[in-house]
Amino acid sequence: MPTRRDELAANLMDTEARIAAACAAAGRDRAELTLVVVTKTFPASDVVELAGLGVRDVGENRHQEAAPKFAQAYAEGARVVRHMIGQLQTNKAAAVAAYADVVHAVDRPKLVRALAAGLARHGRTAAALIQVSLDDAPGRGGADPGDVPDIADAIATCPELSLRGVMAVAPLGADPDAAFARLAQIAAQLRADHPEASWISAGMSGDLEAAVRHGATHLRVGTAILGSRSPLL
Ligand SMILES: *Cc1c(COP(=O)(O)O)cnc(C)c1O
Repeated sequence: MPTRRDELAANLMDTEARIAAACAAAGRDRAELTLVVVTKTFPASDVVELAGLGVRDVGENRHQEAAPKFAQAYAEGARVVRHMIGQLQTNKAAAVAAYADVVHAVDRPKLVRALAAGLARHGRTAAALIQVSLDDAPGRGGADPGDVPDIADAIATCPELSLRGVMAVAPLGADPDAAFARLAQIAAQLRADHPEASWISAGMSGDLEAAVRHGATHLRVGTAILGSRSPLL
């Protein structure tokens, strides 16, 4: 019987092979990319196993789940960079500021202020990415591309936050190449004003190749490594 560790190791190898092939096809270097393994709905023991397999970056999308899981994994020795990749309510920002190293879904000035205040209270700093909506239908989160400059300026004025770039999810049913090409343009415009904002968080299990083609620096991969999530969660 393969252990969970064997299963995770095999899935990681398959995912690394996909990333390597995508980098080769795009003429990019694997070292330009950070793989963020998304562990939502899976237990802290998986975070510990992943850390043991060399994973350095782990992502969660809900504070209620992330806080105890990251704490337990840390207590068991997993030293990982903690990414909060999900939509964030303003009233949860201070609590997330206690542990998140990278916040991917900053999409409004009010959230910037709440995060900065929480970080200041905890004596911490964090990296911030602006989530951009590539969807014409509102509701799935992310800033309107036209609002990116104002949010960037808000982040840049906070010493607790370092503006590192943009994040997006390809719209459901849309061509991910078109979506990520648009994101790359938005990222280039942002870099013109904020040269330090060089990260592009894009690409998940189903579309990581398209993200690599369009300059992603951070891939957020869950299912391909952890397996299918329970539909009940
Ligand atoms: C769950 C999630 C992912 C990972 O999705 P998979 O399809 O399981 O790889 C990536 N980004 C965000 C924002 C997520 O919520």
